[in-house]
Amino acid sequence: MKTCPNCHTPTLQPTVYHNQQVDVCRTCKGLWFDEGELDLALASADDDYDTVDVEKHPGQAVTNSDRLCPICSAPMTSHNLLAGYQVEVERCPQNHGIWVDKDELEATHHASQLHQHLGELNGKVNWKTWVFQFLTQMPVEYNIKPKRKPWMTWLLILVNTVIFLSGFVSVDLAKELYSGVMVPNEISHGQHLVTLITSQFLHGGWMHLIGNMYFLWLTGDNLEDALGHWRFLLVYLLCGTAAALAQTSFMPNSPIPTLGASGAIAGLFGMYLLWFRKASITFMFFVYQKKLPPWGFFLIWIGFNILGMVTNSQGVAYMAHIGGFVTGLIIGWVLLGWVRARYPVLTVLEHPKLKIRR
Ligand SMILES: [Zn+2]
Ligand SMILES: [Zn+2]
Repeated sequence: MKTCPNCHTPTLQPTVYHNQQVDVCRTCKGLWFDEGELDLALASADDDYDTVDVEKHPGQAVTNSDRLCPICSAPMTSHNLLAGYQVEVERCPQNHGIWVDKDELEATHHASQLHQHLGELNGKVNWKTWVFQFLTQMPVEYNIKPKRKPWMTWLLILVNTVIFLSGFVSVDLAKELYSGVMVPNEISHGQHLVTLITSQFLHGGWMHLIGNMYFLWLTGDNLEDALGHWRFLLVYLLCGTAAALAQTSFMPNSPIPTLGASGAIAGLFGMYLLWFRKASITFMFFVYQKKLPPWGFFLIWIGFNILGMVTNSQGVAYMAHIGGFVTGLIIGWVLLGWVRARYPVLTVLEHPKLKIRR
């Protein structure tokens, strides 16, 4: 029997793993693959597993290991299995084979699920993302792609847009539509409570609409995937309603109408921040574009809102934003365990060996 690189005893026993001939250590359960066997073994284990080509990441630091090749006794080198995923395998510099510790072996099963996601999360900012953000003043998102089609998000965007455009058809129709705005003074007297919902679908101008719909599109697809279509709609309306109520309680006698999807979308920010921690959203500091974790991005966003509220700038319902955001955080926190259990990719992304480059 060959000598185990980990135990230094002749305990490597030939066995069959995923229909493949390999050597397993009887003591530490680590695996030794003669050259080429690892690729074949894992390819048959999981269809979407890319071959483990440690040579493909020349930029990664290759460190010397204290383990010795069981064939030639040369010190082996350590390699990360995937960029961003800190699972190490050791390889003989003479290409005699690859050693995988038992703990690392278990982690490789996550690697197959993570392979595509890591590519999406680890994307770099480049001249295209820079030009996009510079011209539109809108961030770029780096997150996993949703598995389900986010048709409820699309439907919400469509409904908001159609209602906005309908306002241009005739003055009478516009009057009819904009009677759906929320007036705190009325809500605090129990009147026109339906406007808590209808006001969420009304926008005061093109930039108001486009800004809101962009952020709905950015966060909605992933949240809808995690929640399911109808639950997503429910929490969306709930956050929007809570936002309108927060605005009302802040200034109950205000006759100033409030409208827009911002409060509901602020709620989406709160959930996104808790559930998609490995995602990135780009922020532009003057002309410097930087990938930020969601908590960093939304911290800046909420900071601007608090600043706006303190300095009392007109035209933006800051309290509605803050109220929606806090509601989203609460819903996100309450549902965190449920969402992780129902949406396994979130659990996989929480793997401690996962490091995102920002
Ligand atoms: Zn061993
Ligand atoms: Zn060797």
